[in-house]
Amino acid sequence: MNIQYLFFFFFFLYIVYAEIPIKQVIFQEKRTPKKIAIIGGGAAGSSTAFWLSNTVGQSIPIDMTIYEKEGRIGGRSTVVPIKDTPSLGHIELGASIFVPVNYNMMNASEKFGFPLKRLTMATKLGIWDGQSFLFEETGNQYWDAMKMIWRYGLAPLKFPSYLQPIIDRFLTIYHQDKPPFSTLSQIVDQLNLTDLVNKTASDHLTSLFGSAFVNEMIQSASRGNYGQDANILHAFAALVSMSAGSGAWSLEDGNYRIFEEFIHRSHNTQLLLNTKVISIDSVYEIDDHNNKIQQYKIHTSLSEVDDELYDIVILASPLHLADIDISCIQSPKEYEREYHTVHVTLIAGYPDPTYFGRTENDVPTSIITTGFPLVDHFENQTSPFTTFTRHMILDNGESVVKMFSSKSISDQDLTSLFVNTSWVYRHAWQAFPKLFPVDQEEWPSIILHGFDQSNTNGGIFYANAFESVISTMETQTLMGQNIAKLIYDHWCTDSLRETCVPFGDGWGTH
Ligand SMILES: Cc1cc2nc3c(=O)[nH]c(=O)nc-3n(C[C@H](O)[C@H](O)[C@H](O)COP(=O)(O)OP(=O)(O)OC[C@H]3O[C@@H](n4cnc5c(N)ncnc54)[C@H](O)[C@@H]3O)c2cc1C
Repeated sequence: MNIQYLFFFFFFLYIVYAEIPIKQVIFQEKRTPKKIAIIGGGAAGSSTAFWLSNTVGQSIPIDMTIYEKEGRIGGRSTVVPIKDTPSLGHIELGASIFVPVNYNMMNASEKFGFPLKRLTMATKLGIWDGQSFLFEETGNQYWDAMKMIWRYGLAPLKFPSYLQPIIDRFLTIYHQDKPPFSTLSQIVDQLNLTDLVNKTASDHLTSLFGSAFVNEMIQSASRGNYGQDANILHAFAALVSMSAGSGAWSLEDGNYRIFEEFIHRSHNTQLLLNTKVISIDSVYEIDDHNNKIQQYKIHTSLSEVDDELYDIVILASPLHLADIDISCIQSPKEYEREYHTVHVTLIAGYPDPTYFGRTENDVPTSIITTGFPLVDHFENQTSPFTTFTRHMILDNGESVVKMFSSKSISDQDLTSLFVNTSWVYRHAWQAFPKLFPVDQEEWPSIILHGFDQSNTNGGIFYANAFESVISTMETQTLMGQNIAKLIYDHWCTDSLRETCVPFGDGWGTH
C-alpha cells in the first residue's frame, strides 16, 4: 500500500470513527423527543405548555403531558352558571379580573378572538366600617376626586406618580432580551422590589401617604384583592391591588377559556384530565455514551398511565394542594406556603339596603369592609365579610351578588343582608399565599431538583413559587414563560443554538 492510499485509509477511519459518533449525538439530540410532564392545568401549567410548544418545541422534538386532577381546565379560574341555569349566564367563582397591563391575558384574548367584558355593572364603591361608610363614590368622578382630597389631603394626588414607576419597573419583566430568572430573589432584586416585599404595606406606605389613606383606600384594595390587611401583607401586594383600579376586564365566556386555548394550541401535548399525580421518583439512566441521564417517573391515580419517564417535570400547583410525594426533595415542607382561605358566596336575591342604613337608591353597589385598626364597630372586631358586590340585575329584578369573606357566611348573616334569596352557592378556596413580608432567603425555590451545571438533562420546576411574590393569573403565565425560557436556554446549548428558533416573545406565530 503506497503512502497515498495509507493517507486515504486513515482519513476514511477518521471519518468513520471520529465524525459519525458526533453526528450520532446530534442526531439523538434532534430526534429523540424530550419528555415533559406538567402537573396542573391552570394559568401556570397551560401557559407553560403553550410557551414551550412555541419555542423549544419548534427546535427540539418534545412530547408533553399535562396531568390535571379535575375534569376541567382552569384551576382557580372557573365559572358557575347563575342560579344553576346556563341561559342566565355565568359568573367567575375564582380569579375574576385582569388589567390592561396584563399583556399575556390581554394578548391571548385578542389573538384567540375571545371577547372581553367589564366585570361589574357600573359600580359605586363604599368603604363600610360596620357603622357608616367612611368613603363612598357618587358616580361623578370630579366630585369624587374632591371628596378624596378633602378626606385624604394630597395623598390621592401623590399616589399615582409613586405607583407608576413601580409598575414600569415590573413591566420590564416582559422584555424579550431579559434572561430568565432561576431564583425569586434574583427577579425581586432585578425589578428593584426588595424594599417593597420585605415590609408590610402599613410600614412602608403610612409615612408616605398617611394612615387614613393607607387604612381606608390602600387597605380596601388589598382586602378586595387578597382578603388581607395592610398590616399583614407586603407593600408590593398592596400596590398591585391598587393598580386594579386602572380598568378591570374579564372574558365574556370565562377567563378559563384562555387556559383551555393555550393547551389546545400546544403541539405534541397530551392532556390527561381526572388524573391526579401521586408521586414523583427520581431515576437515572445511563445512555450509550455512558452519561448519567436524570429522569423522573410519575405515578398517578390511573394505573394505566403510570411508569412514564420524563426529562422535565413542571409542578404548576401550590405544593401543599398538589399533595404529591416527591422522594428526591429532602424537605418539601420548606417550599410550602400558608394559603389564605377565601369563602366565595354567590347569591341571587334582593339585597336589604337598610343593613347599611340606606335605601335602594343610595346604597353603594360594591362594598368593602374596613380591616385593622378600623374594626371597633364589628362584632368581635371582625367584619362578617370582606366584599359585597352586585354584579348584575336579572330580568326578574333580582341582583346577583358575589361576597368574599374569610369565614363562611352564615345563613343568619344572609338573612340580615337580603330581603330574600332564591339561590346561594358557596365555595371555599385556598386562594393565594398569605403575602407576609419575605426576606430574601425565605423564598421558595423555582428549581426543586436537578437542572444544574453537573446535570445536563432533567429537573423539577415549581411554577407556584412565584405566588409568594404575587398571585395573579397573569404572573402565573409569566412564570410559565420564565420556566420555558430556562428550559430553552438549557437545551438550546451552544452546539444547537444555531438550529434553535429564537425564543422571541414566546407567542410564536400565534
Ligand atoms: C377567589 C379568588 C379570586 C381571585 N381573583 C383573582 C383576580 O381577580 N385576578 C387574578 O389575576 N387572579 C386572581 N386570583 C388568583 C389566581 O386565581 C391565581 O393566581 C391563578 O389562577 C393560579 O394559577 P395556577 O395555574 O398557578 O394554579 P391553579 O389555578 O391552582 O392550578 C393548579 C391546577 O393543578 C391541579 N392539580 C393540583 N394538584 C394536582 C395533582 N396532584 N395532580 C394533577 N393535577 C393537580 C389543580 O386541580 C389545578 O387545576 C384569585 C384566586 C381566588 C381563589
